[in-house]
Amino acid sequence: MPRTVHIIGAGLAGLSAAVRLATPDNRVIVHEATAFAGGRCRSYHDASVGMIIDNGNHLLLSGNRAALDFLRTIGSEQRLIGPPAAEFPFLDLKSRARWTLRFNDGRLPLWVFDPKRRVPGTRSLDYLSMASLLWGRPGRTVGEAIACKGALYCGLIEPLLLAALNIDPPQGSARLAAAVIRETLTAGGRACRPLIARDGLAPTLIEPALDYLRGHGALVRLEHQLRGIRFESERVAALDFGDEIVALGDADAVILAVPPYAAASLVAGLTVPNEFRAIVNAHFRIEPPAEQPPILGTVNGTTQWIFAFPGRLSVTVSAGDALLDTQREPLARTIWAEVAQASALPAEPLPPWQIVRERRATFAATPAQDQRRAGARTTWRNLLLAGDWTNTGLPATIEGAIRSGNRAAKLVSEQ
Ligand SMILES: Cc1cc2nc3c(=O)[nH]c(=O)nc-3n(C[C@H](O)[C@H](O)[C@H](O)COP(=O)(O)OP(=O)(O)OC[C@H]3O[C@@H](n4cnc5c(N)ncnc54)[C@H](O)[C@@H]3O)c2cc1C
Repeated sequence: MPRTVHIIGAGLAGLSAAVRLATPDNRVIVHEATAFAGGRCRSYHDASVGMIIDNGNHLLLSGNRAALDFLRTIGSEQRLIGPPAAEFPFLDLKSRARWTLRFNDGRLPLWVFDPKRRVPGTRSLDYLSMASLLWGRPGRTVGEAIACKGALYCGLIEPLLLAALNIDPPQGSARLAAAVIRETLTAGGRACRPLIARDGLAPTLIEPALDYLRGHGALVRLEHQLRGIRFESERVAALDFGDEIVALGDADAVILAVPPYAAASLVAGLTVPNEFRAIVNAHFRIEPPAEQPPILGTVNGTTQWIFAFPGRLSVTVSAGDALLDTQREPLARTIWAEVAQASALPAEPLPPWQIVRERRATFAATPAQDQRRAGARTTWRNLLLAGDWTNTGLPATIEGAIRSGNRAAKLVSEQ
């Protein structure tokens, strides 16, 4: 008889665990509280812009090996698009200067020796300063490890870490910053090609995963929220869904792949990150100009990244907590003025727009919050944890969420 594995939460952590476990050895049931899968990585029809949009632009890099492996398994790797090389065009919204960072493919960072490929105003030697982020005492912030000023910081380190850690970099954990740099810049341009889901997050990452799961005999139950867990000595004995109590057999297992605040409310005594940072996205219904790059980095403005999709330009502002209480239309106008400048489009009229603010987009990637992350194992032998907030060694990202799901699945398989 196959064992039953209950996976709670159909975000990327839960889905990746389910995909790994959907084999004849297991009966996989995914329970999702809401009416849709995807969690913080989802698409929906937005009435204001009259089209399907993502809750937020999500950027992957070619070095995100677990994410790419997941996409390969579910058969949608070809839905990610990006330039053939690791190139990042940038615009300074104040000075109007434009430059493109061009990382060479190999591990040896030859690009830092070429003024046409590195950040303008920097010297090759400046890049050595990044070494103090990679090695050093644990528990430090980025601000304690390096000087957060100057051309290299403003033109490369700040945009990279703001996007990857979703925190004002000086407050960010140097350990997490180092992990990002190790898996991207020091791995060479081959690991740094930017990749986006051109047709949307759901058609690329979520729907193919659901199809895969259905095709492999797994059950996905939407609007099926776990309300409580019944513990019995060293194991979970039953799951309480309110209208239904599900008893667990001796070989059955549970993977709790919910956000940290949900996990803490279900498992008493669990220490989890409890500070968060927001991400704000602005979406404008307009055809991007033909020469618009798929991703444009901007500095010295509210806008941080401009993503071009068919019929839409979308902006990401990470660590966007200061914008949470700003009125929506003035914010849309401020951002549109910057997008219009960057894309050589008319500033008036304001195209149809939407602002999506995710208050708890990620846990705050500070050293203190990083220390509150739990491992995959718990005191209960058949209860595993997954989620971007568990201790993956990475900041809260798709790659981290998928690695956490894979890790929990591996532990279940080994039981
Ligand atoms: C706007 C935005 C932009 C982002 N940009 C990027 C990016 O560019 N690159 C990148 O790599 N990452 C990005 N991220 C981060 C990425 O989206 C997350 O790291 C990832 O989606 C987290 O997946 P998860 O499965 O850990 O958690 P979640 O997606 O939060 O999934 C948890 C699921 O559990 C469900 N749930 C909760 N409680 C229960 C319960 N009691 N019973 C059943 N189900 C329950 C929830 O409804 C949810 O579906 C971004 C996030 C946001 C919000």
